[in-house]
Amino acid sequence: MSSDDSLACVAAGDSRTRRGGSLKFFHGPMDCGKSTLALQMDYNHARQGRSGLVLTTIDRAGPGRLTTRIGLHRDAVEVTAELDVRALVRDRWARGIHVDYLICDEASFYTVEQIEQLADLVDYSDVDVYAFGLATDFRSQLFPASRRLIELADEVVRVQVEVLCWCGRPGLLNARIVDGAVARAGEQVVIGDTAGMSAPDEPDVRYQVLCRRHHRNGDLGPAARSVGQLRLV
Ligand SMILES: [Zn+2]
Repeated sequence: MSSDDSLACVAAGDSRTRRGGSLKFFHGPMDCGKSTLALQMDYNHARQGRSGLVLTTIDRAGPGRLTTRIGLHRDAVEVTAELDVRALVRDRWARGIHVDYLICDEASFYTVEQIEQLADLVDYSDVDVYAFGLATDFRSQLFPASRRLIELADEVVRVQVEVLCWCGRPGLLNARIVDGAVARAGEQVVIGDTAGMSAPDEPDVRYQVLCRRHHRNGDLGPAARSVGQLRLV
């Protein structure tokens, strides 16, 4: 709406002017509490009598669950690559279920098309969308969905719960550690934390939050170095 239009509405006393929804993207490295914040956001809105849906994908507990590292959890809609988020919401409406807001966890793993669908819901259906996810992948490059969220969101917020690199600096970037070394190439999405559980011929993959300096130079700190020395012995 142009400012002229807003003035016209005010002048006409049009109290029905739609507020519109808003699209907010909260991002931060792993372990910074994004999923906890997502559940807190859901709780706050539900307490105000609003009705929402919680969506997630590739949660550590498997499909249809949103779990947090500090032990909170709830049921969630699993976002598969084929899911049309607009159809999901329309289907709820058709069944008489209000959807005032969406909590979208792990949004960096959604498709770009699904981010467009979220923006449609905000603009045409006044649904508030709160998306949570990683900004960048293990190479410190934006995920396509996160890029689109940053381009489209009304507000982009870096989650403030601080995660520290082993050196004590703020941990800003996720590193993928494959067999003890920082990976620089590979698939954008690989589920990690296989350490000790992978088959003998498969590499150990895990993730670690590092500061920018140590992400870029690949230094995993004295603990990793002593492990390396033990292996040499
Ligand atoms: Zn560091």
